[in-house]
Amino acid sequence: MPGHGDLLRERLCIHQVTLMESCDFRQSVECFARHGIEMTAVWRAKLEEAGPGAARAILDGSGVRAISLCAGGLLTEPGDEAARAAIDANRRWLDAAAAIGCASMVTITGGMPEGSLDLEGARGRARDRLADLLPHARASGVRLALEPLHPAVCGYRSVISTLGEANDWLDEIGAGDELGIALDTYAIWWEPGLSREIARAGRRIINFHCADWLRETSDVRLDRGMPGDGLIDNRSILGDAERAGFRGAIELEIFSVNNWWRRDPDEVVRIARERMLRCFSP
Ligand code: ZN
Repeated sequence: MPGHGDLLRERLCIHQVTLMESCDFRQSVECFARHGIEMTAVWRAKLEEAGPGAARAILDGSGVRAISLCAGGLLTEPGDEAARAAIDANRRWLDAAAAIGCASMVTITGGMPEGSLDLEGARGRARDRLADLLPHARASGVRLALEPLHPAVCGYRSVISTLGEANDWLDEIGAGDELGIALDTYAIWWEPGLSREIARAGRRIINFHCADWLRETSDVRLDRGMPGDGLIDNRSILGDAERAGFRGAIELEIFSVNNWWRRDPDEVVRIARERMLRCFSP
């Protein structure tokens, strides 16, 4: 049975966005390295700020590797011009992800276009354009990890909300390994039939994100809790994913505008590491 050292080295990942307000690209990587965290998921705005070349150099010398880029997609705007712009942007993001060694790009659909009430239209465009991205994903060697998000952010982040919908889309698109799913416990912990949908997703699960849902949350997107502070049985959901064949990293992703983002980054990563070990150690 692996000890804490093994779990930490082999599976724990902390998303760069967890240090959103306190660190730039380099500072976040250096902070993870100080605490023995060897994997991160890169936040796209921080990558663009640093530039892929500089980001690669920072990662190469650090002992921290980038496993994933968050987030691409944003595929719902109507019109041919918007479609072309979205596809072009995603191709650039896939290339940038490849340049820093990421195995996947977390992909969200985007929300409802300004002035539109056509939810099904937005879903259809996002699904079609996701399919259009597959050749470039294959060519770049970066897998697309479709991430459904909590229904409270359907308006502005994701027009699909359940793992069941993500599974349906993958069935309909019929892609190979270049398309899979990012399972975020914060987004889908409430979903009826979740265990069944995780089993159905099986080895399509590429990324496992976790956080906690605070009972009295002040913001459904930007008030995520640390595992142990809320209502999500993260360990049980990971168990379901592992029974479905998942063997990847355990990724902590905290958006917390009034709490964790305001704290000292070393304090955040120290506490995050302790919580992850407590939550997930065998
Ligand atoms: Zn996520």
